[in-house]
Amino acid sequence: RTWKESEIPESILECIERIGYKEPSPIQRQAIPIGLQNRDIIGIAETGSGKTAAFVIPMLAFIGKLPIFTDENRHLGPYALIMAPTRELAQQIESEVNKFASPLGYKCVSIVGGRAFEEQQFNLREGVEIIVATPGRLKDVLERHVLVLSQCRYIVMDEADRMVHLGFEVDLKFILDALPTDTMIGEDEDGLDRTAVDGDSKQGRTRVTTLFSATMPPTVERLARKYLRKPATITV
Ligand code: AMP
Repeated sequence: RTWKESEIPESILECIERIGYKEPSPIQRQAIPIGLQNRDIIGIAETGSGKTAAFVIPMLAFIGKLPIFTDENRHLGPYALIMAPTRELAQQIESEVNKFASPLGYKCVSIVGGRAFEEQQFNLREGVEIIVATPGRLKDVLERHVLVLSQCRYIVMDEADRMVHLGFEVDLKFILDALPTDTMIGEDEDGLDRTAVDGDSKQGRTRVTTLFSATMPPTVERLARKYLRKPATITV
């Protein structure tokens, strides 16, 4: 099985070739074709399985197709948000995202604790397409109105069980409730076309939400039930 069998956009296939991933890992084989149909996914997988690329590839394909995502509108981002339990994991994800995002010209910034707030504010002011964040620090940033997530349309919760275990459930819900919901919307007040990318329902989706977890305790199931829509479950 090769990368070319799934419908990955050509520009992303070129990135994969340049990075040197010869063939997709089992989770990538399962998750990428479903992700490319803009479906919500629950992925039961451990770190080390290649799950980061499994969500990053559909995420980049999705934001690249958003009607709003043009060169002039780049600064209206971020368009994608990845949440992870710890600073270390967030930075690991950021580096994996950048393998794909940098050659495509997309900027990814991580918002994590333990780093000067001013520095992160500066990074945000430059305009970013993708954010990787720990929930606690992201909530702080949102409360200071430094960042607006109104165009964030691809959401990933990574290691959801660990986020809940570390006490981030309330912060997660605060953030998820601040995001656009998954509905069809047309012309907005400012005249920008925010029509969704076609989903598998062909009705279009304005938000895709993906959740990865090694285990599925009831708290994580409740999160998934509340914030994901008709998710496909993938287990590796
Ligand atoms: P992850 O589970 O996402 O943390 O990935 C684990 C490691 O596998 C990372 O260092 C990735 O760079 C690497 N990796 C991900 N996908 C592939 C692939 N298809 N082929 C080879 N290495 C990969």
